[in-house]
Amino acid sequence: MSAVAPFPGVSFFHKGQRSPLIASMGKRLVTEGCGKYRTGPGPEWTQVDQQSYAAWQRKIGFEGAEANGIPGKTSWDRLRVPTSSSVPGGRVASPVPGKSVSTAYRVKGSRWSLGYHTGADYAAPTGTPCVAVLNGSLVRHGHDGSFGDFLVLRAQGFDYWYCHLSEQTVKSGSVRAGQKIGEVGSTGNSTGPHLHFEKRPAGGGFGSDVKPTW
Ligand SMILES: [Zn+2]
Repeated sequence: MSAVAPFPGVSFFHKGQRSPLIASMGKRLVTEGCGKYRTGPGPEWTQVDQQSYAAWQRKIGFEGAEANGIPGKTSWDRLRVPTSSSVPGGRVASPVPGKSVSTAYRVKGSRWSLGYHTGADYAAPTGTPCVAVLNGSLVRHGHDGSFGDFLVLRAQGFDYWYCHLSEQTVKSGSVRAGQKIGEVGSTGNSTGPHLHFEKRPAGGGFGSDVKPTW
């Protein structure tokens, strides 16, 4: 059984957006008898996706502006789109599903030892699931005074550091995008529960950080 993808947010669905999640959504719409595709659902958000999604919204009783074909959380959750971890090379929208960045990368400040923030923070209550952002493998786990309990996901030539965890659910081996690997906490040098998410070239030390995109 595959996991269900959390709602990625209304702004995710726009012209030019490409994601395995959109193809995954299209397949579910076809299964529900709502697909209007001539050539099958693809990863790019198109007018046909919107028409198909509108048919789904009408099927579950939405009317008028509520059946405009732009996914909302209620209709999305009812569609039960499989998480992109079931799609080869899949990716997820956030390392903490449903949460967005609370403190950005490279913000300057004296509370950071290099004078700037080396990752992106996702504030969330202790115990909130953290997921692998890409298919890859956990190559390191441990504890230190700054990063607290941490995990390192290696994928596509980079290391993704998950820090201040309260729980390390998986510590080593292969993981898939969207798979839960730990839980948000406030271990180490932290002022409150959040995920510090940092990206470095594979094997890179502290200070080799790059913009945490994936
Ligand atoms: Zn941070």
